[in-house]
Amino acid sequence: MKIFPKKLTVLYKKQLILTILLSSTLSFIVAQSAKVGEKRLENSAMKTEEEWRGCLTPEEYRILREKGTEMAFSGKYNNHKEEGVYKCAACGEKLFSSETKYESGSGWPSFWQPISKEKIATESDNSLFMSRVEILCNSCGGHLGHVFDDGPRPTGLRYCVNSVSLDFESLKSKSSEIRGKTK
Ligand SMILES: [Zn+2]
Repeated sequence: MKIFPKKLTVLYKKQLILTILLSSTLSFIVAQSAKVGEKRLENSAMKTEEEWRGCLTPEEYRILREKGTEMAFSGKYNNHKEEGVYKCAACGEKLFSSETKYESGSGWPSFWQPISKEKIATESDNSLFMSRVEILCNSCGGHLGHVFDDGPRPTGLRYCVNSVSLDFESLKSKSSEIRGKTK
C-alpha cells in the first residue's frame, strides 16, 4: 500500500511538469499570434462590418471581409503587366509593386515580395483540409490571399493575391499627370 501512493506522486509530478511545459508553450503561441492579430484587429476597427458592406461591392465584401477567393484566371490583374503600384482595394494602402509581379501560372496575380513586410499581416489558415498561410492587409485587415514558399528568387515566396482585393495605380498616368501640371 505504501508503494502505490509513491508511484502516484511520481506520476503526478511528471504530469505537473508536462502541464507546466504545455501551458507555457501554449501561452507563448497565444502571445505570438496575439502580436500578429493585435495590430490587425486594432486597425480593422477602422470600419464596422456594416460600414464595409456599405462601401465595398458584394464581390469585394465576399473576398476582403469573408475571406473568399475569386475564380482562377478570372481576375482583372492576373495578366496585367503595366508598371505601377497595387493597392488594397478596401483602404488604398500600397501593398505590391509591379516590379515584383511575375507569371506563376496559378491564375492569380502573384508577387515574390510586398512593398514592405509591415504592410502584410499573416495568419495560419487550416480551412479546406489544407495548411496555408493567409495574407491580410495590415492596415484594414482585408483578406488578400495566401503566401506559399514555391516562389522565385530572391525570396522564394509566392504572394498569391485576389485581383478583387487590389486596385492599380499606373506609373504612366502618374508621370503624365505630373508632366501636365508642370507645363
Ligand atoms: Zn487595406
